Amino acid sequence: MQPSTAHSCKNLPSAGQVAYFSMEIAIEPAMPTYSGGLGVLAGDTLRSAADLCVPMAAFTLLHRKGYFEQHLSPEGVQSETVQPWNPADFCTEEPERVTVQIEGRVVVVRAWRYDLKGRSGHIVPIYLLDTDLAENSGWDRGLTDHLYGGDTNYRLQQEIVLGMGGVRMAHALGLRVNVYHMNEGHAALLTLALLESQLGGGPLNGATADDIEQVRKKCVFTTHTPVPAGHDRFSTEQSIRILGSDRTAQLEKADCFREGLLNMTLLALRFSRYANGVALQHGKVSRAMFPEFAIDSITNGVHAPTWIAEPVAQMLDEHLPAWRHDILYLRNAIDLPEAALQAAHASAKEHLLAVVESRTGQALDPTVLTLGFARRAATYKRAMLLFHDPDRLQEIAAKAGGLQILYAGKAHPQDGPGKALIQQVVEEGMKLSGGKLRIVYLENYAWDLGALLTSGVDVWVNTPRRPYEASGTSGMKAAMNGVPSLSILDGWWIEGCIEGVTGWAIEDGADDAAEAQSLYAKLEAAVVPLYRDAPEQWARLMKTTLALNGSHFNTDRMAGQYVRNAYYPGR
Ligand SMILES: *Cc1c(COP(=O)(O)O)cnc(C)c1O
Repeated sequence: MQPSTAHSCKNLPSAGQVAYFSMEIAIEPAMPTYSGGLGVLAGDTLRSAADLCVPMAAFTLLHRKGYFEQHLSPEGVQSETVQPWNPADFCTEEPERVTVQIEGRVVVVRAWRYDLKGRSGHIVPIYLLDTDLAENSGWDRGLTDHLYGGDTNYRLQQEIVLGMGGVRMAHALGLRVNVYHMNEGHAALLTLALLESQLGGGPLNGATADDIEQVRKKCVFTTHTPVPAGHDRFSTEQSIRILGSDRTAQLEKADCFREGLLNMTLLALRFSRYANGVALQHGKVSRAMFPEFAIDSITNGVHAPTWIAEPVAQMLDEHLPAWRHDILYLRNAIDLPEAALQAAHASAKEHLLAVVESRTGQALDPTVLTLGFARRAATYKRAMLLFHDPDRLQEIAAKAGGLQILYAGKAHPQDGPGKALIQQVVEEGMKLSGGKLRIVYLENYAWDLGALLTSGVDVWVNTPRRPYEASGTSGMKAAMNGVPSLSILDGWWIEGCIEGVTGWAIEDGADDAAEAQSLYAKLEAAVVPLYRDAPEQWARLMKTTLALNGSHFNTDRMAGQYVRNAYYPGR
C-alpha cells in the first residue's frame, strides 16, 4: 500500500508526508480530470514533487465524465460533449472504503490510485475519489462524475467528498500525513474532517481553541483567486441542509462566513498555519482582501520536461544535458548557439502548423510572425483586445509582411458571456482574415494543444484586465521554449517581464482602448521590426527568454519554495 521509495531518494525526510488536495489535477493528457490552469498547476506540482522525491500523496475526484470536449460551429457557437473514460485503464482500485455525510445521507467513497513516477523512480500516489458504488443512491453515484458541473448544491457535495472523504481515505490507507495542503478553497472542508478526528468523534461544539490550533498546525493553503466574486461561497441554508446544522454552527463560531455566506477561502485561511498567493502581485491582492491574515507569495511555475517541446528538449540535451537533473542549469542557456534554438523553434512551429492544417484545413506560412492567444474564454482575459481597432491591426499585418494569430479556449458550459466571446472572436476573425492577416480559432483547447501552441508560436499574448490574473502559467510554458510574451503587467508577468529581453509589456491604461493602443504600439515598434529585420537579435531574445524565465518559472523551483516555506519551515 505504501508507495515504495526509489534508491536515490533515500535521504529525504520520511517521518510523515504532505497530502496535497486539489479539485482538479492534470495527470495525463488522456485523463480528462482537469479543466485548465489550476489542474495543470496541480499536475506540474506533483510531477516536480515526484522528481525531487518530496514525500507526498495527492487527493482529487475521479471525474468519471471529465470536464467537457468543446465543439465549435463555423460561426463559433460552442457545444459540449461528456468525456467518459475508464479509470481501470490508468489506475488501481484500492480496497478501502470510507463514508461521508451529505444531506443526512451516508455516502460511501472509494479511491483509485494512480502512481505518478518521478525521474529517479520516486512515486507520488494520486488518489482519485469515487462515489459510483452500488451502496449509494443514483444521485450520490454521480457526485464524482463532472468537474465543475451542476449547481452550487452539487459543488458543495463534491467538496465534502474531496475534503472530508479525502482525509478519511488518507487515514484508512494508513498514510502518515503531517501536512495537508489545500490547493484552492475547494478542499477547505478537509479542516472539518481533521477537527472531527481531533475530537475523536466527540461533538463539534466541544471543540476548544486548542483543538483548532492542533488542526491549524497541520494545514497550509494556496489561494488562486484575486477577486471576491471568484471565491467559492455557499448560503447558510445550503450549509445547514448539506453539511448539517452542527457543522454549520461550528463554521459560524469559527467566523468562516462573510456577508452571510460560507466562504471557503476564509475557512481555509482560518484553519491554516501558512497561506500563500501564486505570484508576488497576487499575494498583495490577497492580503488586501483578507487583511487579518499573513499571506505569503510563492510564484507558480510549470514542469519543464512536460512543457518543453521535443525539438527544444533534444537541443537542450545536446548542449546543456544537466538541465534534466537540475533545472537551474537552464540559466546557462544564455550560452546556447542561437542557430540551434532557431532550428528547434522552427521545428516546433512546423509541427504546430501541421496540426493546425490537419484540424482546420488552413495552411499557414511558417515564415510569418505568429501570435498565440489561448486560455479559458473568461471575459476578464479580453480575447477581443487585439481586435479593438481592426484597421490598425491590418496595417500592422501589412507592415510585418503578414501576421497569423492562433486562438483557442473553452468557455464553461454555463458561462454565457464566455461563449458569446468565443463567437465574437470567431466572427471577427473570419471578417479580418485574408490578405496579410490570418486568424484561426482552434477547437478543444487542452493539454496537447496547449503544448503545441506555447512552443510553436513566435509570441505569446496575454491581455487580462488587472488584477484578475492571479498568476497565469501558459506564458511560462512559452518561455521554456524560448517564446517571448507580449502581455499586460499582471500575475507572473510583473516578475517575468524584462522589456526587450524576455518579451514586452503592454502598458497599463485608463481603459481597454488605451491598453489596445499600447498593444498595437509594441507590436508595431518593437515586435514586428525585430522579427522582420533582425533574426539574429530575435534569436538572442529567445535565448534570454529561455535562460532567464525558464530557469525560474518552473515547478522545481516552486516545489522547493513550498517545502522550505510552507511544508517544513525552519528545516
Ligand atoms: C497552461 C494551461 C492553462 C493555464 O493558462 P493561463 O491562461 O496562463 O492561466 C489552461 N489550460 C490549459 C490546457 C493549459 O495547458
